[in-house]
Amino acid sequence: MKIYEKAPAKINLMLDVLHKRRDGFHEVEMIMTMVDLADRLEMSELPRDTIFISSQAGYIPLDEKNLAFQAARLIKERYDVKTGVHIHLDKKIPVAAGLAGGSSDAAATLRGLNRLWRLNIPDQELQELGAELGSDVPFCITGGTALATGRGEKLTPMPNPPQCWVILAKPPINVSTADVYGRFRSDKIVRHPSAAKMEQAIRNQSFAEVCGQMGNVLEDVTLKLYPEVQHLKDAMIRLGADGVLMSGSGPTVFGLVSKESKVARIYNGLRGFCKEVYAVRMLT
Ligand code: ATP
Repeated sequence: MKIYEKAPAKINLMLDVLHKRRDGFHEVEMIMTMVDLADRLEMSELPRDTIFISSQAGYIPLDEKNLAFQAARLIKERYDVKTGVHIHLDKKIPVAAGLAGGSSDAAATLRGLNRLWRLNIPDQELQELGAELGSDVPFCITGGTALATGRGEKLTPMPNPPQCWVILAKPPINVSTADVYGRFRSDKIVRHPSAAKMEQAIRNQSFAEVCGQMGNVLEDVTLKLYPEVQHLKDAMIRLGADGVLMSGSGPTVFGLVSKESKVARIYNGLRGFCKEVYAVRMLT
């Protein structure tokens, strides 16, 4: 038997870091949503008790370092599944980009294997399993739009923001999330974005208010380390995007655009100096 799952990319409409906890994680407040840029996973049962990962992308690990492998191993161990699985990852989400590609693959693996092996695990339990793999995995189980607190694993669902275009641009640098959090100093932050105000903007279904409330305190670290990310932000604003922000720890920058007539100009303008540009819809 063979099944398919889509693993969409996430963006942070706002991201605030409150403080560093004793366990080393940072306490965060994030409002996350998903965009229509997705990896596609094909999962087929294997007669032997083994996990085999393949991908057309030459640049991701295919062994136990792969988050889809870790997700499959976790669900097999926890539910005592003796059959194996071949997971093929058709990667479309750029890697180490701040778009939670690996986390979304892990979540799609948990959802897919739940179906393939008819385990009937409720979403809540899948999210708890996901939290063992990474802070963004629980959100990626259900997707939609949510406020994430704790280290990102405590979720409060909220309505989707108003539909719009999302233009994503990833400069050719890899950013380590751990490194960015390691360098983050909350006393350096002048303006914290407000989760409450962003939530209100979404509830009002006001595109202008959503754009006005966008903010990510991690820009303070990544933009200083990599000026090209700042240049990309500046270019997106100059080209006419309505709201522009770095996603997660970066380096991907995204712009929200309400008018379809502006999309081609912004896309082409960015493609002039950045190879990886995507124009997609928000997943609502
Ligand atoms: P986040 O926003 O959650 O920090 P990210 O988008 O910055 O995630 P990922 O694309 O998830 O980063 O990749 C981070 C690292 O995880 C990479 O170094 C990559 O080699 C590794 N990795 C493991 N499994 C996967 C996977 N299935 N897809 C992509 N990267 C993976």
